[in-house]
This record gives sequence, structure tokens and C-alpha cells, in this order.
Amino acid sequence: MIIEETLRQRYEGVKNEKGVWITPAFPKLIYVLEEENVREGTPYWYLTKLAAECTAKRMVPDYISEKKMREYKLSKGETPGNGDVYTCMGCRSFLTPDRSGNGWDNIAGAKNYEPGKPKYYGRFNQGVVTVNLVDVALSSGKDMDKFWQIFDERLDLCYRALMCRHNRLKGTLSDAAPILWQYGALARLEKGEPIDKLLYGGYSTISLGYAGLYECVKYMTGKSHTDEAAKPFALQVMQYMNDACARWKQKENIDFSLYGTPLESTTYKFAKCLQKRFGMVPGITDKSYITNSYHVHVSEHIDAFTKLRFEAEFQQLSPGGAISYVEVPNMQNNIDAVLEVMQFIYENIMYAELNTKSDYCQVCGYDGEIEIQEDDHKLVWVCPQCGNRDQNKMNVARRTCGYIGTQFWNQGEGAAAAADEGRCWIGFRYRPSPLPGAGDVKRLVDANIKMCYNRAQKGRVNHDQDNHSGIRYGLLHV
Ligand SMILES: [Zn+2]
Repeated sequence: MIIEETLRQRYEGVKNEKGVWITPAFPKLIYVLEEENVREGTPYWYLTKLAAECTAKRMVPDYISEKKMREYKLSKGETPGNGDVYTCMGCRSFLTPDRSGNGWDNIAGAKNYEPGKPKYYGRFNQGVVTVNLVDVALSSGKDMDKFWQIFDERLDLCYRALMCRHNRLKGTLSDAAPILWQYGALARLEKGEPIDKLLYGGYSTISLGYAGLYECVKYMTGKSHTDEAAKPFALQVMQYMNDACARWKQKENIDFSLYGTPLESTTYKFAKCLQKRFGMVPGITDKSYITNSYHVHVSEHIDAFTKLRFEAEFQQLSPGGAISYVEVPNMQNNIDAVLEVMQFIYENIMYAELNTKSDYCQVCGYDGEIEIQEDDHKLVWVCPQCGNRDQNKMNVARRTCGYIGTQFWNQGEGAAAAADEGRCWIGFRYRPSPLPGAGDVKRLVDANIKMCYNRAQKGRVNHDQDNHSGIRYGLLHV
């Protein structure tokens, strides 16, 4: 009943300042697909249908496959198929399975402690450091031996950086954030007690992030990782990072885990650094972004099912977190197709989402996809039903990296945008001439995936291409 009501409310949306029902950005909803709800005739099929309608209209919920998760997430003593099911934090971070098997003897002092049950709520992550796989590849000059040697060096650098994060947390007193450490948000420690015991033994995690698997593989092998000839190398790279995490975990008694970093502004920073170090290498460094985690490159023609099946193999090797997307058009009149994708997710991949397009025109009431059209080299939002072009009279929601944004990508400011397979790169403008950091971002604006895609296809994305009136533009990925 609670699930049903939650879905109904989300389907309805929330009222904006003008009283129009729109797609809320938060909170994100996650729906677990399981034997009891995934097929017609199962007891909770009606909820799954409702979830499909909600996804088509409001982009959430996202989907966890109980079947796949029970295969992968094995806490102490569990066997494949009987593992744990728990949600991610934010858009994609997953905790490691509870390796104590008993909620760590309640070291956090939780009042709802249940002996013998694995614990997932209250645990946390100590931070992430991301390795730029494209840089490793380019630094090797296509020499495989050199590649693995440089990879070792870079991983060691990541390890040391992660230990800096860890050591900085060490000795923190619970008084630093009483709501977190004393009042039960994360733990109920004594006043003046250090948090250190929660940093070890796998109670919390620490993440090795990675980015640009596609470009790395493309440079080293000349082929995309979706090519059968190149895929083994791609998987080997993933396994190598997992092995490094396992070694560090053994050494430090901290749960290192491999994580498909969302990247955010880092993708831009990485891309710019690559261009600076290696120049414009066609197909590798010639964009203002690099491909996120293990994702299939945006330019590849691949259907939703093939993509999910392919990425599932990589997601399994990204236990600290990852998400796969499929891009779909407005699906509100094709709920059966949404359900088919959901059933495919259940059988094939642990965690995935559909990026749909559902907007609202306040002039005529149209609630499908507001389109992007190019008009005199400017991109404008147009209602396909009535032709309305007034952004103040329409509502557009697009997913940007696991989260939904509902503001306009602002053409007037000429922001540039590009897409990385369902994840959006959103344009922002900044005045300082050095490369932008988080503080330089004046304001974020949403990008339309289609437009992003078109722009990426045309190779028109460049952080300083639209350069006039002293205002420079950049790309940011959220
Ligand atoms: Zn309209």
C-alpha cells in the first residue's frame, strides 16, 4: 500500500510555483524487481505496472534486480543466489556486502541492532579517488608491457591518495558531527569518542574510481570494448583494478571497492588534461569529456537490450557502484515496452534505469517530449503540439547522471552540452580564464539529451568554442 501510494504521488508530480504538476527531481525512487512482481500473474504485478507508468512519466523509479543482486552481494556465509538486497546511496554507490555477517556486533551502537542480520543502513563511504584510464593508455604509447607497468604506478598513486583520505578521517571525534555520530544517523558513539573503529573491518567502504574504459581500450586495441576482439582486454583492465582493491583491503583491513565514478566536473578536467598532455588524438582526446565508467560510447549504435546485456558483465566488476542507462523516447503510450525492458533488467543486470522524456507545455497542455530544434545556429525548445517556444511556459525534466534536473538548459547563455550515453553533460558558463573548478560554476543548467547527443555527434562540443563577450563556456557533467 505504501509502495502504491508513493508511486501514485510521484506519477502525479508536484506543483510548481504556477500550480502546474511537474516532475520532481528528488527524492530518487528505487523499485526492486523480484519474483513476486516481475511477471503478469504474480501478486504484485499491478505495482510493477504502476512503476512502469511512473517511470515513463517521471523517470523514476530506477530498478534493482533482486535476482542479480542475490547472485553478487554475498555477505558472510551466503551463497550465490542467496545474497543480500539493498539500495545504493545517491545515484550509484553500493556498500560492500556485510563481511561480519552479524551487523558488526553493533559497533555503531544502533538501537535497532539485530544480531545475525547483515547491516546496510548506517554504514558509509570514506571517499573516492579516480584513475584516468585514458591517460594510462596514452602514456604507454600502445606498448602493452608499458601499459601494465604505468597502470601499476597509477594504482599505487590512487592507493596513497585514498589512504590520505582515510588518515584524515582517523581520529575524528564523534563531536565533529553529533547528528551523524552521536544521535544515530550513522552511529551512536559516546561524546568525545573517535570514529576510528567504524573505518575498519569493512564497516565502511573506500572507493577506487575509474573513468574512460572505452577510450582506453580503443587506443590500446584500435577497437571499441563492444568488439569481441577488444572485450577481453577491457575485462582484464576491470579485473586488474578489482585485484588491486583486494590487495589493499587485505593489507589495511579497509573495504576498498571499485566504483564507476559519476565524474561530474572531473570528466572535463580529465579531458582537458589529456588534450594538454597528448594533443588531439582522434576518437580518444578530441572531445571535452571522456566516457563514464564502462559505458558504451555514445556514438555506437546499439539497442537497449544488447547494451544492458553487454554492460551487465562490466557492472558485475564494478562492485563499489555503477549504473547503466538506456535512452528511450516518450514511452507513455507504450507501457508494454517499458515493462519489457524492466523484465530484461530483472534477468540480466543488477541496477539500471530508463531515461525517458516527459515534459509539459503550459500553453496547450501537451505532456510528451518538448523538442529541441536548431534555429539560426541556436537551439530552442519547441512544443511539438502548439509550437510554443517560451521557456517560461513549459516544463522540461532531464536526467543528469542519476539525478533529475528540471531547470532549463539555457540557450541564451550559449552553454555547450554533450551526452555520454544517457548521462548528460550540462553547459555552464564561467568568467575566470583558468579551467573551471567547482567554485567557478556560476550556475548549472540542464541539457537535453537529444541535443547533447546531436552536438556530440557533430563534434561541436568544445569548452571555449562559443566564446564571446568575454564569457567562456564549459561542460560539466552531473
Ligand atoms: Zn504546446
